[in-house]
Amino acid sequence: MGNVADLTGRRFGRLTALRPTGGRRHRSPLWLCRCICGRTHEVPVRSLQSHCTRSCGCLRRETTPRNAGYAPQPGRDVAMQRDRAAGATLAELAVKYGVSRQRVHQVVRSVRRPGESAAEPYDRRTA
Ligand SMILES: [Zn+2]
Repeated sequence: MGNVADLTGRRFGRLTALRPTGGRRHRSPLWLCRCICGRTHEVPVRSLQSHCTRSCGCLRRETTPRNAGYAPQPGRDVAMQRDRAAGATLAELAVKYGVSRQRVHQVVRSVRRPGESAAEPYDRRTA
């Protein structure tokens, strides 16, 4: 008791603990960590051990935009609609543009595929 746990070299998600900074936050010793993205980040030990903090922030930056609605990307949407009109399936478009099939459906539902009377309903899941 009383000693700061030695976390040197321990991995916490994307972070590897380097050394204690000597500082504290929320009464928890701060550790300097290196993230796999190359940045360093000071993290309270408690956040590391509770797995609250698993990156320098890049993890959240990468995952949040995808989860929290979609920023309009008119250029991409137009390209998606063009591919759809050329006969691409929702699944193919989802892979090609890196978005969910539901999102593809939102973008292309007004587009008719050749030989189809209406846009393919999203409910017709194959997965
Ligand atoms: Zn990072």
